[in-house]
Amino acid sequence: MNKFEVAVIGGGPGGYTAGIRLQQYGINAVVFEKARLGGVCLNWGCIPTKALVKIADLYQEVKDREQSGIFISDTKVDFQAAMNYKDEVVEKLVSGIEYLYKRKEIPLIQKEVIEIRRESEGYTIITSESEYKCDYIILATGSKPKEIGNLKFDGQQVLSSRDILSLRELPESLAVIGGGVIGCEFASIYQQLGVKVSIIEFLPDLVSMEDNEISKRLQIMMKKRKIKIFTKTKVVEIEKQDDKVILHLSNDKTIEAEKVLMSIGREPVCEIKFNGFELSREKGFVTVDPEMRTNNKRIFAIGDLTGKLMLAHTASKQAMLVAEVLKQELRGEGEGSFSINYSDIPRCTFTSPGIGSVGLTEEEAKEKYGEIEKGKFMFSANGKAIASGSTEGFVKVIIEKKTGLIRGMHIIGTEAVEMIAEGSIMINLSADIDKLKTLVFAHPTLSEAVGEALEDSEGLAIHKM
Ligand SMILES: Cc1cc2nc3c(=O)[nH]c(=O)nc-3n(C[C@H](O)[C@H](O)[C@H](O)COP(=O)(O)OP(=O)(O)OC[C@H]3O[C@@H](n4cnc5c(N)ncnc54)[C@H](O)[C@@H]3O)c2cc1C
Repeated sequence: MNKFEVAVIGGGPGGYTAGIRLQQYGINAVVFEKARLGGVCLNWGCIPTKALVKIADLYQEVKDREQSGIFISDTKVDFQAAMNYKDEVVEKLVSGIEYLYKRKEIPLIQKEVIEIRRESEGYTIITSESEYKCDYIILATGSKPKEIGNLKFDGQQVLSSRDILSLRELPESLAVIGGGVIGCEFASIYQQLGVKVSIIEFLPDLVSMEDNEISKRLQIMMKKRKIKIFTKTKVVEIEKQDDKVILHLSNDKTIEAEKVLMSIGREPVCEIKFNGFELSREKGFVTVDPEMRTNNKRIFAIGDLTGKLMLAHTASKQAMLVAEVLKQELRGEGEGSFSINYSDIPRCTFTSPGIGSVGLTEEEAKEKYGEIEKGKFMFSANGKAIASGSTEGFVKVIIEKKTGLIRGMHIIGTEAVEMIAEGSIMINLSADIDKLKTLVFAHPTLSEAVGEALEDSEGLAIHKM
């Protein structure tokens, strides 16, 4: 029967999570996905890039190991094999989610939704082959890479983040337009694999949404790795020649590169005809209330489509929130909604070294709370970091002076992306500095740097001058 209580459109981390959670709650839901489950995250985003980050880090580490007495001669990267490994990782995860759906018997329709029609009761979902009825809709159609003005992808020389994941040969040089998270991650991967990399960023800093000290430190470390960085610079023209691309910059300089990655942001995807209703939007992103409800009471939107902190774990948390709301609305069970505080969602940048951050930056905390205390501890004074030969970076904590509550944690360093979960727990459980000072961090671990940064907020770090 083609009648469901809820239709989820899009099977990325937002949509596929919604499908599973609704089924766990005994709600009759169907998921529509035009490609494969997993969306951008599993197929063309988080997972394939992190497989490449692993390969690039490993290659770098092998090359840097001579000081520890390990000599590996003739180290080289077989890029074709590396890309095959990345494809295998993606296949394993995507087929894993597909298997979950099969075993759980969650209805999945692998077709593109082309139209949604409002009926006197509920909605009709239309694909090229069939029509389906539902009472509620969750839109989770995601986002795609943005082009601006004369800056367009061609898939050969000027690449999107998706195109670059299909390369089969390492370019000799790569110019990255846009120094945000995605641009910096690819710059870092390709530099480690031996490609000459430059980054052109319009703003004064790379990863400019991060705490200023972190952005500045990333920039220093990338320059140390011989990545050329042009900030406060715009690409005014892209000139294509047979074997190279010439970028004309606003500072009158030019950059030549074999390939260009353009990562200047992402825009929402929702190529569906709405019949009998409209959705309100802001800059193309669908606007939602705190329960992820659109201006139509029975239509929710989640994930990148809403333009809120565009991360996979944001999308999946929003999916769980909507499922909670629907459990209450359809079954009268559960607590109903819970609130998502977007600034307390952890953010990770998988550069070398990586960045993990949660809560407010120093600048934001000062603006919001006035007086703050901060603590900082360098990995160069941490035993485990020295023993592992990975001493770059630091941990920084931001504390509201009046309440002693921890309001932000920012880490740059080799395991920053794993360690930030500690800050996330501290902030989300409203821990204050007095409570945190009683915590014991195992020795020797990188997490001791978190403990020392907390102590440093009171000038009491043991291993700091
Ligand atoms: C290179 C890159 C690296 C990234 N790395 C990270 C990372 O390390 N960590 C992180 O948290 N985030 C990362 N992200 C962001 C993350 O991928 C997104 O935030 C996440 O995928 C958003 O999930 P979503 O469910 O909103 O949408 P999407 O993942 O975009 O999924 C939307 C799905 O909807 C389907 N769809 C669209 N329209 C229709 C239709 N009409 N009918 C049927 N199906 C449709 C699409 O095929 C797609 O599968 C990265 C992104 C990129 C590009």
